[in-house]
Order: sequence, then structure tokens, then C-alpha cells
Amino acid sequence: MTDIFTGSFTQQEPIPDEGIEAALRVLRHGRLHRYNLAPGELGETAELEQEFAAATGAKYCLAVASGGYAMATALRALGVKPGDKVLSNAFTLAPVPGAIASLGAVPVFVGVTQNLRIDLDDLAARLDCGARVLLLSHMRGHICDMEALMALCDAAGVRVVEDCAHTMGASWNATPSGRFGAMGCFSMQTYKHVNAGEGGFVISDDPDLMARAILLSGSYMLYDRHRAAPPPEAFAQLRYDTPNISGRMDNLRAAILRPQIARLPERAAAWNARYARMEQGLRGTPGLTLIDRPDAESKVASSFQALLLDWPGAGIETALAACRARGVELKWFGAPEPAAFTSTYRHWRYANPEPMPATDRILAGLVDMRLPLTFSLADCDQIAAILRAEIGATFQSP
Ligand SMILES: *Cc1c(COP(=O)(O)O)cnc(C)c1O
Repeated sequence: MTDIFTGSFTQQEPIPDEGIEAALRVLRHGRLHRYNLAPGELGETAELEQEFAAATGAKYCLAVASGGYAMATALRALGVKPGDKVLSNAFTLAPVPGAIASLGAVPVFVGVTQNLRIDLDDLAARLDCGARVLLLSHMRGHICDMEALMALCDAAGVRVVEDCAHTMGASWNATPSGRFGAMGCFSMQTYKHVNAGEGGFVISDDPDLMARAILLSGSYMLYDRHRAAPPPEAFAQLRYDTPNISGRMDNLRAAILRPQIARLPERAAAWNARYARMEQGLRGTPGLTLIDRPDAESKVASSFQALLLDWPGAGIETALAACRARGVELKWFGAPEPAAFTSTYRHWRYANPEPMPATDRILAGLVDMRLPLTFSLADCDQIAAILRAEIGATFQSP
């Protein structure tokens, strides 16, 4: 075994050849705008929407410019107004509270459990804050007990929007992620489960909400060119009352995405195999707490998390530096200053977050890494061996 890992944690797989060929066809015919269609042509974007609706079992699907745009559109469709409170996760990515703030609404943060799911007790305690919507983030693919969450929210009259940026292709008790809430939102940004550079989906079974979302996304009066949309009647009145907030998907990115959607199950299996090797290699490492994955969850494990629970910050810094020296860069959610993608609720000061000590304890020890599909299983074994050695050597048992 070599001492230093030399792979890249940010190197994606190439776009499938079919996607490259489809993209070249779009570039050659030049009709990149989704509503620019030749006679009889459905368009790559409309076909992509049909295919993703079929993949998730949703009645309706809308493709848009980004995951963040998808979430803001879902909140607008649900009638969130400036000044409204919207519940969301304290542990998530910055575009989630950002989507709430983009409407002039105010995020109310809900804590995280040791297994990195939304804390349902904390949610129950905050349900009377006046919020009518929960923007639920399945952060890093960890899905909470969805039956329990929906029962709590339904009883309180709180609508749920699911942020499935890390759960595209995943499910809970065989129901695809994104199919529990009133609307489900996805991201096709480079670091998610499909890669178009940027992009987002909104799915729903509700014709009124979806007609609003399509009009909001900038459909002009061309909504009949959608193929995974509600019937024209759903738009008849709404088209006078709904502003156009342009954020459409284009045919070039849709062309790249279609073969990737078709490959999701096979990619999920490849990610889960890598995750299992990492878990196996790290089990029993002194000082390292692994995350329990419930049986009801069918995951797409494109990243790996673990806890250095109750370690002093200086000890974590020492361990991370030792791992980094051997080519393994862990992201740390407990650092005082946010770096790259690791900001959490404490850093989103525009939302006036109140301290959450139980959540702080978890985030203080949380380390994270991507598992790109360009890693082999042997790479995973080598990374796990390096982490095991360096973390084990730094850990001082109490
Ligand atoms: C990436 C991501 C999003 C959406 O991000 P975009 O970059 O706007 O597509 C939403 N939620 C989480 C948890 C994410 O990681």
C-alpha cells in the first residue's frame, strides 16, 4: 500500500457518449431555447421532463436553471410571501436558506440529530412558530422518518417542500425521495447525482402548484409545449396572476442529462458499493463515530460523513492536517469560519439564527468527503486505511 492517496475528490466522470452526441445535434440545429421547436419536435427539455417524471412516478415535472431556483419557485408556487417564516434545516447547503431569503421570507432553523437527519422533536417544538411551509433538506442524502415527519406537518397544516439535491434516485420505504411533500426539488449541478454543470427539477402531483411553477419559470404563454405538465385549464386563470421570473432549462443541458437520468440506478449501485467499502474500512476506528443508515432508506451514497464527536477542535485540526498530508482532504463543518461548501446556520447571520447547542455539538465533530465515481473500490480501501491510521493515532481516549 502506498502512503499517499493521489486521486482527486472533485473529478467527475465524463458525460456519456450518447449525451455528447445529443449535445452536438442540438448545437448543429441551433434550437437551444426550450420553446424553439421544429414542426413535430418535442424538444430535449420537454422529453427530459417526461423521463424524470416517469423515473420518480410524479405526474408533473419542470426543469429549471438550478436547484436553488427550483426551491425558490416551489416556495413561490406555495404562496410564501415577504416576511413569512419558513422552517428549514440548520444543517444544509447555503442555497437552501438562500432560496427562502430570495423571497424576502425568513428561515427558521430546525436542529440535526446524531444521524444527520432533521430532529423531529425540535421540529415539533417549532411547528407553532407561524410558518406554513417546511423546506426539508435531505442533506448529504440522509432521509429522516418520512411518515413521522409528514404526520407532524400534516397535523400542523404545514406544507412540505423536499430539497432532494442529494437524494436523486433515493427512496424511503420504496417511495422515491421528493414524492412525500407537496413539491420535490432536485439539482443537476456538477457535484450532484447527474451533471449538467447547472440545472434543477421541480416535481409534483398538484396541477395548480405545477401550473404556477411553470408560469413562474418563464413559460410565457407556451405552456402547451410542456409534456409533463397539467392540462391547459390549470393555466387559464393563473396566467393573468403569475409573474414570469425567468429561470428555464435549455435544450443543450437537457440533451446532456437525458442519458444520465436513464443511468441513475446503475450509478446509485456504484456509489453504494464505494460507500460500503469506506464504511467497512472505517468501522471500529478509535474516536470515529459512523452514521447509522436505517433499513427504510434506499440511498445514493455519493458522499461519506462521520463524527469526531466531542473531540477538542485542536485535535480535529491535527487529525485533518495529518490526513491532508497523505492526500485525503476531509471537509469539516465545525471550523469557526465557513470554508468552501461547509457553512451552516451559524454563518447565515442575515437570518438572525439563535444558538442551537445540541446541533452545534454534532456539527463541531462532523467530517465529510465526496465519493466520486472516478474512485475505484481499491481507492476507497486506501482512503479508509489512511483515515483509520491518522485519526486513530491522534485520538486521545478520555
Ligand atoms: C446543491 C444543493 C442545492 C441546490 O444547489 P444549486 O447549486 O442551486 O443547484 C440544494 N440543496 C443542497 C443540500 C445542495 O447541496
